[in-house]
Amino acid sequence: RAKQTGRSAIHFFTQELHNEIQRTRYLKTAMQQALRDHSFEVFLQPIVRCSDSRCVKAEALARWRLPEEGFISPAEFIPIAEDNQFIHELGHQVFTKVTQMLNQLTKSVDPDFQISINKSGAQFVQGSLPTHRLWPMAMKNLRLHNQNLVIEITESVLLDTAEEVNNRINHFQKAGFQFAIDDFGTGYSSFAYLARFPASFLKIDRQFIQQIHSDQQMQVLCEAMIAMAHKMDMEVVAEGVETNEQFKLLNSLGCDYCQGFYFSKPLAFHEFEDWLEKSANKKNRA
Ligand code: C2E
Ligand code: MG
Ligand code: MG
Ligand code: MG
Repeated sequence: RAKQTGRSAIHFFTQELHNEIQRTRYLKTAMQQALRDHSFEVFLQPIVRCSDSRCVKAEALARWRLPEEGFISPAEFIPIAEDNQFIHELGHQVFTKVTQMLNQLTKSVDPDFQISINKSGAQFVQGSLPTHRLWPMAMKNLRLHNQNLVIEITESVLLDTAEEVNNRINHFQKAGFQFAIDDFGTGYSSFAYLARFPASFLKIDRQFIQQIHSDQQMQVLCEAMIAMAHKMDMEVVAEGVETNEQFKLLNSLGCDYCQGFYFSKPLAFHEFEDWLEKSANKKNRA
């Protein structure tokens, strides 16, 4: 009997693996087409300043709508883009859309409005699209300020010792682009690297925020991360804030900005503009 169970388990496993390979192959082909059609979308999620609840920043998140199944998660398609070198073209299309949004928002909402873009480690390596040269040129041509764009990277990019990765990051920083360390606390954090790398923002991963009320240790860790970031001249963004209680607690711990479903989910650009207007009206009445 044991043998039989074992055999069906293997059968199940190979079936699963087969489905996954099919799925990846399908998405890869569909992605090539979507890049040719420029059909990737960019949504914005508000980032709110704790001190006055104003939305002064937003994070740009890539969105892909498949005709048969609607939006699929970047958690599914970004790794495929990375594995197939599509991440460069995808990143370029995201950047182009973000510059159009920045153009609107810095004119009509706030000249200091910032949008952050996620960049994978692969986008900094030797031989990849030289965005450290292309982006400053594009921003200049569009008369946008580099200070309005923030680049989000994860701790793993900082741990990359390749010279070209460091060169590119330095190049971006000299040009005035700011950096945020994304999903902080989930990777192999190296405090030595953190101290050497002048990031402007530290984004505390949502797994800490989600347990900030149920687990006393999480609150202690958040407090410590906020204190450390401030000592290093970084501002703190809490990710995944879903309740008013979390927002209030983070505010009392000295957190600078909050982002999460409590304020808004990521929105298409026109929805984001409506959301901004409504939240400004609300504050005027209050
Ligand atoms: P991330 O950069 O950490 O983005 C935050 C993720 O958390 C987003 O997922 C967002 O929708 C989700 N989120 C925001 N607030 C809440 C909340 O209150 N609760 C919960 N449960 N989730 C919340 P999304 O859009 O699915 O993106 C997943 C990841 O894909 C991103 O994580 C980022 O690493 C990557 N990604 C997205 N767009 C791009 C892109 O253009 N380029 C690259 N390289 N990566 C991207
Ligand atoms: Mg991010
Ligand atoms: Mg994050
Ligand atoms: Mg994440």
